[in-house]
Amino acid sequence: MEYPGNLFVVSAPSGAGKSSLVKALLELDSQVFRSISHTTRSPRGQEKHGREYYFASRDDFERMIGSHSFVEWANVHGNLYGTSKKAIEERLAKGTDIVLEIDYQGALQIKQSFPHAVLIFILPPSWEELRSRLENRGEDASDVIEKRLKNARDEMAQVHKFDFVIINELFERALFDLKAVVHSQRLRYSAQKRVRSEIFSSLDIPVTLENS
Ligand code: 5GP
Repeated sequence: MEYPGNLFVVSAPSGAGKSSLVKALLELDSQVFRSISHTTRSPRGQEKHGREYYFASRDDFERMIGSHSFVEWANVHGNLYGTSKKAIEERLAKGTDIVLEIDYQGALQIKQSFPHAVLIFILPPSWEELRSRLENRGEDASDVIEKRLKNARDEMAQVHKFDFVIINELFERALFDLKAVVHSQRLRYSAQKRVRSEIFSSLDIPVTLENS
């Protein structure tokens, strides 16, 4: 079923700048909401339950898997992460646009359940730049950085399964590209017909369910 809201899924290897881009998009566009995932990892720094994530015990998370509460879930670097089905379906049904910031395994599961979801992959401009961003973040020890770089190779090998690719070389340019993808979805026939229905009827355009 196609919901009136758009579902955007953004994936990227660690250090490509996904979180900063999504944060900037949300600040500029009050019509898009970020879905808050559940995770079994512990809060980091200033993270708050219900703001960055819903932090859950492994038992609770597994109970949620058992009750089919997740539209997708994945083991990412040893921790479990999942997107609540109810939370996103309710919002999409109301016509709200949602962005999921999740790993590629989750993104591909989302496409199965929501064929209209728009999958966006963020790439760094080079290995050197990815490494230097990870090092400059100062968050991880060198062995963790090496692991993240190794994971990045596997993650980037999935990029061909995504609808759009944004290369985050210059942040402002990448943000422009992300906004362009979001905007283009809102110009689709099905969206325009719903949102600007008065113009369609004033122009005597016959109502059709076809989306071509
Ligand atoms: P972090 O622990 O650094 O916040 O996130 C680690 C990875 O898990 C990131 O790639 C992040 O996008 C991904 N992630 C966060 N939430 C979800 C989710 O609900 N599902 C999946 N599949 N991945 C998630």
